[in-house]
Amino acid sequence: MNRKLKFLAVLVVAAAIAIIIIQVNWLKSSYKIGKDKMLLETERLLDEAMLEHKELVAKKVRGLLKRTIRPQDIETAVHYQIPGRLQVELGFRTKRRVRGSWIETTVMRTELTAIQNNPYPRLVAEIDMRDLNRLESIYSAFVGTVTFPPNSTEEKQLDSLSKCFDLPRDTEILKSILQQKLDQSNLDIHIQLTYFERIYDAYSKRPTKKSVDTNNGQIIEVTLDEFRKRTLTAHLDSLHAEMKRRNATPGPSYITKLNMDNVNAIIRDQVPVFVLKVNIPIMSVAKQMIVALTSSISLLLLLFFCLGQLFYFILKQKKLADMKDDFMANVSHELKTPVATTLAAIQGMQYFDVLNDTEKTNKYLATAAKEMQRLSVLIDAILNNAFLEKAEFELNLTPFNFREMLQGMIAAQQNHTKKKVSIQLNYIAKDSISADPSHLYNVMLNLVDNAIKYGKEETKIDIRVTARGNGVVIVVDDNGIGIPDKYQLYIFDQFFRVPQPNDHSIKGYGLGLNYVKRIIEKHGGTIILLKSDTTGSTFEIQLPQ
Ligand code: ADP
Repeated sequence: MNRKLKFLAVLVVAAAIAIIIIQVNWLKSSYKIGKDKMLLETERLLDEAMLEHKELVAKKVRGLLKRTIRPQDIETAVHYQIPGRLQVELGFRTKRRVRGSWIETTVMRTELTAIQNNPYPRLVAEIDMRDLNRLESIYSAFVGTVTFPPNSTEEKQLDSLSKCFDLPRDTEILKSILQQKLDQSNLDIHIQLTYFERIYDAYSKRPTKKSVDTNNGQIIEVTLDEFRKRTLTAHLDSLHAEMKRRNATPGPSYITKLNMDNVNAIIRDQVPVFVLKVNIPIMSVAKQMIVALTSSISLLLLLFFCLGQLFYFILKQKKLADMKDDFMANVSHELKTPVATTLAAIQGMQYFDVLNDTEKTNKYLATAAKEMQRLSVLIDAILNNAFLEKAEFELNLTPFNFREMLQGMIAAQQNHTKKKVSIQLNYIAKDSISADPSHLYNVMLNLVDNAIKYGKEETKIDIRVTARGNGVVIVVDDNGIGIPDKYQLYIFDQFFRVPQPNDHSIKGYGLGLNYVKRIIEKHGGTIILLKSDTTGSTFEIQLPQ
């Protein structure tokens, strides 16, 4: 490879590597975007699930409240006017009236008498209207105000009611609602939901001592009690910092959700928190980015295919150019020799006055004729090849006696050569075949000529012609020197010659097999090198009829 080509190859490889790096980075970032999208979606579903779950609990609480509170337990109390509205307080009948156990409701002036007479429907409406948070205040006003006999149904219902506000117990239900939502939206992820009574339990293991970074950069040690007394904002900051740290490391991601229902808890800075641990398998993100993935991979494959083809063609062209150079060198040597020898013979006859000496004249003429013959063969080979290049080249297909043609060719070859050559013909097919006789003759001559040229001292050639399907199969088998494995792929290429240990030891131009292949293919047939090693080579031609 020359330097320019090497430089080009290095450039192309560098460009390919750069493209791979860019693609990999792009895939990485789209993976991250895909994962973040799934996390966002999970968070949205968690919000939905929490709402749904609360509504579910609220429904249960509403039912239980309505079943437990009896009309005779309710009374109305103060009602007062605030601009534009009339505020009425509904309470539960008790011997000792405690402030704060009243439920406020806003009514129309016209409704007042009816409500005072029978407050029960108003309370039921209030129960139906309120969310879980505000239902808890009805429940709290009710519990302890109205008393029921021990072990009565009402008391049992009150017990069930108290459990409705127990979120940790319900975490599993919330999780299953969320799981159902994940399944519906085809998000293939694994979740683990944990509930912490107090926000700081979610990020800290109840330290006895804790280092706190004060505003002026000083680190002070605080005891657990002081730690608990931190403000909600301080705890929130710590929770977010902890989750950010966890989410930055590879592995599961964490989503936190405060449960801000309980006002008392918020006032005491003891907000409960849900922590959702989300494991997103690589494959489920990959599934979401299937379009991006396949297009990117196919683009890469296409790119490499094109690069491969490009290199293949460049190398092929380069090899062809090298072979053409060899051919030119070879041909010019071959052209010079016969011309020089013939010229020498003619000049010899001119200058040395040999025309009267018949024997000498014949010798000179024979030399000249032999050289001219060589020249003619060479010119034929080159012209044949040039002829085949032409697009309008057509075969002259006619039926002829192939067996006879082979027998004639074999007889001529056996007599001509200086080597000891024996050619066997085994013809088991119809004598007459349809093909271009002169080209097929050349094909067979080329193969036999090669077998003799590249044969050992005693050359044995077997030609077998058999029928296969509608066509014929011609096998030419020799016991020659064979073709090394690494060159077998190229022997049908134009100008290709297996490098000879001592240059020009066997004459040739690398055109014969290329000619053979082109002629056979023009007939619609195929030629392959069936086998070639140090014991000889076997060529097989399939010719359709
Ligand atoms: P050439 O003019 O060199 O013979 P060909 O196209 O006929 O050109 O053959 C190409 C190359 O294949 C030859 O250089 C030779 O090395 C190898 N070859 C062809 N036929 C044979 C054979 N029967 N035995 C060994 N080598 C062969």
